[in-house]
Amino acid sequence: MSLFLIILAAGDGKRLKSSIPKPFNKINNKSLIEHSVEAFKSFNEIKKIIIVYNKKHKKYLYKLNFKKILQITGGRTRQESAFIALKKIRKLNCKKVLIHDAARPNISKTIIKRVILKLKKNDVVVPVINIHDAIKIKEKNKIIDSLSKKNLTLAQTPQGFSFKRIYKKHLENISKNIEDDSTLFNKNKKKISVVKGSKSNFKITEIEDLKMFKYIKTNKIFYGIGYDVHKLTQGKKLFLGGIKIPFPLGTVGHSDGDPVIHALIDSILGACGLGDIGNLFSNKNKNYKNIRSTILLKNVIKLIESKYFIINNIDINIITEKPKIKKYRKKIINLISKICKIKFNQINVKGKTTEKLGIIGKGNAIASEVVTSVILNV
Ligand code: ZN
Repeated sequence: MSLFLIILAAGDGKRLKSSIPKPFNKINNKSLIEHSVEAFKSFNEIKKIIIVYNKKHKKYLYKLNFKKILQITGGRTRQESAFIALKKIRKLNCKKVLIHDAARPNISKTIIKRVILKLKKNDVVVPVINIHDAIKIKEKNKIIDSLSKKNLTLAQTPQGFSFKRIYKKHLENISKNIEDDSTLFNKNKKKISVVKGSKSNFKITEIEDLKMFKYIKTNKIFYGIGYDVHKLTQGKKLFLGGIKIPFPLGTVGHSDGDPVIHALIDSILGACGLGDIGNLFSNKNKNYKNIRSTILLKNVIKLIESKYFIINNIDINIITEKPKIKKYRKKIINLISKICKIKFNQINVKGKTTEKLGIIGKGNAIASEVVTSVILNV
């Protein structure tokens, strides 16, 4: 199945009363639009992601530096934006398409999975949730009647469609103003299949919704601490934070003896509740003899990704009399940010001394301590 994903982010979100356009509001260092992309990214079935944005928001979008994502400007209405994206992918051999509102950044992988699975044998798939509150009809701020909720349900996104059908529907209903794409199939009632949505897949419209999203995300943050120290000696190389440092002394260790990467690995494993570096990469295992610690770190990132963790921020202390860390700070951050798949500004590196006290102060050892926070992104 050649499956595409359209994320609609072209609305202006005026009801949020924020100076920053809605899709670009940040929670936990990530904009709402990045939270959505993050949820879909791990689905290999999705061949291409298309973001439809408001041309007034270009500078915000470009800052996010999305790679391998098609970015196009939308129209005046939600429907126009969706149709522009459908026209764009028409020639790209698209068989099925998911359409998602960027205003639903808390979309879970479980719902995405349900929609994709159901879409294999159906033309239209909509995640829905039950209504538990009593429904009233109001007029001028007074309730004038009640509505039975028996046959009512609330529709969410992502909605899945067979490409040919949704394209045709949009083409036939160009000027209609609709709130979601499945509305276009209202006349072919039985065509619309449903899967279970979730209350947590709520739409961010007002400031209260944004606060709720922040609350949910913050509750999924975990912290871990790591510490390591290596002896310095002659005739060895010195690696700190994955960078080879020109220095007359080097560290002693089973691997390349990089205390920064070792402390970092321990802090990541600690945050994710996955033990420590010793039980993952035993120093009795010959495979790890003289191995670069950056390779171990790459394996750790793969491991935490498989458990749906992503790194939120890293704070590193490198404790050494010599060499001075300042000179290598940027290089270290650049390298770690690449391996950990996070941005430069999510990592902090500080060089410390022990005021010439103890074995570190005498230049016989280098230590590092690291605190990492991770987010469970399910
Ligand atoms: Zn070590």
